[in-house]
Amino acid sequence: MAYGAELNQTRFAPSPTGPLHLGHAFAALTAARLADPGQFLLRIEDIDQGRCRPEYEALIAEDLHWLGLDWPQPVMRQSERLPAYQAALDRLARLGLTYPCRCRRSDIRAALSAPQEGAAVIGPDGPVYPGTCRHRRMAEAGPDDAIRLDAARALDHLRLDEIAFLDENIAPGLPHRLSAHDFIAGVGDVVLARRGMGTSYHLAVVVDDAAQGITLVTRGKDLLDSTWIHVLLQRLLDLPTPRYHHHRLIRDQQGKRLAKRDDARALKLFRDEGISAAQIRRQLGF
Ligand code: GLU
Repeated sequence: MAYGAELNQTRFAPSPTGPLHLGHAFAALTAARLADPGQFLLRIEDIDQGRCRPEYEALIAEDLHWLGLDWPQPVMRQSERLPAYQAALDRLARLGLTYPCRCRRSDIRAALSAPQEGAAVIGPDGPVYPGTCRHRRMAEAGPDDAIRLDAARALDHLRLDEIAFLDENIAPGLPHRLSAHDFIAGVGDVVLARRGMGTSYHLAVVVDDAAQGITLVTRGKDLLDSTWIHVLLQRLLDLPTPRYHHHRLIRDQQGKRLAKRDDARALKLFRDEGISAAQIRRQLGF
């Protein structure tokens, strides 16, 4: 895989909400391989404090060391970076591109099922937001509100008619593109700060990839559609757009994507059964 002559900086960015499974091992090994001879970093994505557990964070380090990976210290931890996310959010608010949203999931479902709406479009975060709160101003934001990006205004502000990024795995040699029209219709007004959380996955990942100097973002193809949001946020915040490598997903014997919430077999279970890291690496093609 050609990723240019310069040294790459990549990262593996798990959330400590459960034990790592084979899919995570594949993601981490891919990031480390594509960094070589540059630098592979670890980042702990623990903004959802209700679901994250310190014991899972300890297990992440143990599992990755067992696989033969190493990374510089200190490790970036998103729960310690809320001021950086707030600064980014303030900047977008000053540009007039954000609004407070008080809709609950059920409100969104109800608005989308109104007869004039037609079939709901499903974007990277679920049904595309119908814009119910778009008229609200930031001055009215309350503690129970989420903050959304006004996608049409944001694209207009940048005078962008498309969003593009490079991914040697998805579209070798060509930028992968989405028109502004398709962004508005298919992605829409995404949440930048979840209720009571100060940020969302999208905002945090963009701010942190820039802060860590990540030049090549490697992650599963399940996040491909989120990348449009990240590239737009990079433009709005004057941050560099890294290159991307969206890799295949590891599936179970039924062809289903492995997920922590299913009973995906944890790496620790393989370890405890005496299976070697070399066997796991070989199984995953490393
Ligand atoms: N934290 C995300 C996850 O566990 C990955 C973040 C990313 O690669 O952008 O799926």
